[in-house]
Amino acid sequence: METNVTLQRAVDLACHSPFVRRTEKVSLSGAAGRVLAEILTSKVDDPRFDNSAMDGWAVRATDCEIQESILSISGTSKAGGETPPRVAQGEACRIMTGAPVPEGADAIVMVEDSEEVGNTVRILGPARPGYIRKKAENLEVGQEALEKGTHLGPAEISLAATMGHGEIEVVVRPKLAVISTGDELVPPGAELSDGQIHESNSYGIAVLIEKMGGQPIRYDVVHDTIDGLRETLDIAARECDAILTSGGVSMGKWDLVRRLMEEEGDLSFWRVKIRPGGPPLFGTWKKTPLFGLPGNPVSSHVAFISLVAPWLSHCMEAHPENGPTIGDRVKVKLTEGVKGAPGKLCMRRIRIETGEDGLTASVHTHQGSGNIHSMVAHNGLTLLPPDTDAKAGDIIDALWCR
Ligand code: AMP
Ligand code: MG
Repeated sequence: METNVTLQRAVDLACHSPFVRRTEKVSLSGAAGRVLAEILTSKVDDPRFDNSAMDGWAVRATDCEIQESILSISGTSKAGGETPPRVAQGEACRIMTGAPVPEGADAIVMVEDSEEVGNTVRILGPARPGYIRKKAENLEVGQEALEKGTHLGPAEISLAATMGHGEIEVVVRPKLAVISTGDELVPPGAELSDGQIHESNSYGIAVLIEKMGGQPIRYDVVHDTIDGLRETLDIAARECDAILTSGGVSMGKWDLVRRLMEEEGDLSFWRVKIRPGGPPLFGTWKKTPLFGLPGNPVSSHVAFISLVAPWLSHCMEAHPENGPTIGDRVKVKLTEGVKGAPGKLCMRRIRIETGEDGLTASVHTHQGSGNIHSMVAHNGLTLLPPDTDAKAGDIIDALWCR
């Protein structure tokens, strides 16, 4: 077991114990938020045929060179309609957006630039070749357009549909057990007795898991007993691909996750050089990967973002740029000084704003690791290297979590 490792070392160690990635075919309508498990190539040309970008007239550009030329109307081309007749010299075919450009025509006149007179049309504006959307100008049959590991959002889903994929192969959402530990924890909505607090970590962690393309399985709070914890871990190890606990990983007498993993689990590391979120551990429980996240609410979120999220991406074989993510790495200019942490990567909460000269970042609330409000009042985390303070005006690396 290694202790007090760098974040990179922690991620590397965890990546040695992935869960088994499985894939499944799903219908496109249910694929949002999933991770694509195959390369998707287009089954069609896009556009499928030359078509009009405007409602108007399909014409021969040379017929419109003299001002206010009058053309006879040859027919109509409607999206999804019958094949329009060929446009001969001196003719114009009425055409709708997306409708096929009839043979013979090489330009479009917008309806706004025309005046219909009986069965003729007077051309009052330019005939534009550029208003013809050419066959396959976007995608050709067989072109690879969605990479393996892509997180499927609205545009990716639309593109897959355009390319003709009604069903696609995606990564099975890994089931991640979410287990909070602590005698003081009571579900939100329940009455609080003296010394009790609302359990919050499992709710936020579950959302983070969903954002990363996983399926959270929340368990009832485990009280601070070794037997209760062991029992829940055994159930979770059978039911889930991996286990995330929160709380019980520090130096306290009741920090039982750490004790149980030390005594009966297979520990890979404990403590990571990050602030906040320093005490996480990782190992396997009955061969199931287990992250012991810290109990402090901010720490549990930050440890998930910095440690669990990259591990999940690795296990799902997510694409490094297009895969699911919780934050984007950016450069920000500090509007005030921010203190780093001795020996640790420092992830202070910052509010990132867009301004005329790029992204700026400022600090607004108390930064205590128990203050989950600070994660709402801010939308980013500094990535200050160990032993590095930053002053107003410095440009630093940060994670923009939107
Ligand atoms: P622990 O690591 O178990 O000592 O917990 C550290 C701090 O986080 C304590 O103040 C706990 O009350 C708090 N905490 C632990 N788990 C949770 C949770 N699931 N929801 C909210 N606060 C928690
Ligand atoms: Mg505790």
